[in-house]
Amino acid sequence: MKLTSLLIVLLISSCGKKANEVDSVQRPKDISASHFSQNPIKLKSEKSKSLCSVNEFSDSQRNLNLSLFLRGEEVIEERYFSGLLDQLFVRDVGANIISQSYKGKSTVYKYVSTDDVVTMETEDLASSSPISICPDQINFEKGSLESAALNITYYISKASRKIIELLPTVKIPPVTVEVTPLIKKSISIIVKDQVVWSFEAFETDNAYYMPGHNSITFLPHSEEFRKEGMTASFWEIPMVSAHEYGHHVFETLHGSSSTGSGLKNCFGKFGMIKTETEGEKRTVSIDDILISLNEGFADLISFYTLENNERGLKGVPCLQTNRDVGSRNFADGSPKVFTSIRMSQIFAEKHIPGSENCDVPNMQNPHIVGAIFAHGVDRLLAISTDTKDQRLAIVLEWLNEMKKRSVNMLNQTPKEYLRDSFKLFVETTASKTDGKVDEAECVVAREIYPGIDGYLHDCRPLF
Ligand SMILES: [Zn+2]
Repeated sequence: MKLTSLLIVLLISSCGKKANEVDSVQRPKDISASHFSQNPIKLKSEKSKSLCSVNEFSDSQRNLNLSLFLRGEEVIEERYFSGLLDQLFVRDVGANIISQSYKGKSTVYKYVSTDDVVTMETEDLASSSPISICPDQINFEKGSLESAALNITYYISKASRKIIELLPTVKIPPVTVEVTPLIKKSISIIVKDQVVWSFEAFETDNAYYMPGHNSITFLPHSEEFRKEGMTASFWEIPMVSAHEYGHHVFETLHGSSSTGSGLKNCFGKFGMIKTETEGEKRTVSIDDILISLNEGFADLISFYTLENNERGLKGVPCLQTNRDVGSRNFADGSPKVFTSIRMSQIFAEKHIPGSENCDVPNMQNPHIVGAIFAHGVDRLLAISTDTKDQRLAIVLEWLNEMKKRSVNMLNQTPKEYLRDSFKLFVETTASKTDGKVDEAECVVAREIYPGIDGYLHDCRPLF
């Protein structure tokens, strides 16, 4: 198999990496079924607008029943929609947070490699249309497009309003929300008039933010994923909506790439490219570290903007301990810390297989590196702050400081970049609280990142 044709596969399946930075080779047979499927579960629209007895909300306040996955179980809970219903649309009044939520998009991306010359065509089979609801309805069928849009809108707005409250002068652009578009990828590799390999499947089982488009997409789940035990849908888990919005905040305050716009920030391990290679050297760039920090930041946004009883991941396979900011350990019981062994794995030239294995944390997965960062941040903040709002304000301030230093930090090695990002967090916390890094903070910083104390002015290094 020629390199060019293999790169197409990576290009269309990559998440969090820019297409032109693809640096590893993947055999087509290695494509994981977990985020490509022949069997996407299509959501249906509840009813047509013609069945509504009124065609506009008399006001934008309403109690609605949401189908959620909370505290390890499926629940139906009432939430107060304040300013989140506009005309008939599921968006905030004024469209400042969510300019529109959409359904029904169906697109095919056709990649053809003919004797190593690659062409790509996009065909729109159906375009998006705005999601609307009937004003005389308060219950929405679980698994309907409207139910999904209401959940996503509610939790994105919750995260956004909290951030706007803390950053009143920052203009965060509105996002669009795409609910379960059908995105089909079709690849054909033709050599001397013979089709030597072809692949056709839908993107499934993920949620992602696209920086260049200010859009958040929730892909459909697949039959296979359901059978593997993922009974909850991502739009039923509040943390996922708030996490994706966290990427939007990161993009707005800092930028998701040191050199330009990234392609996508995917939600979970499900979007990871597989990196089985044959002797190909792995290199870690500053952008790779930035992607990990972005993931950790997005987890922190969800952790600090949602209610304590809404932010948990109990019962969500793969995510429940690994991505729970409050959990000290990964699923295998190992602590969330940057030990020297882990640091060497993060920066290793050799790929560690199994980045999609949920039971063993893979240090080459940006979500896992981000999870260590997020947990470390929360441990530090627990010492010097009392409220979630104070913690969120410091996390946002840290990102501002990162932005201010971004040009100088580009001269660092990726390892120094990670170290100094964490160091900057410790210093930002000190400057926003009692002005100095005290002994308790030194102890935690040292535990999370052994050796960091040697770089912190106020900490006495251990000998
Ligand atoms: Zn993410």
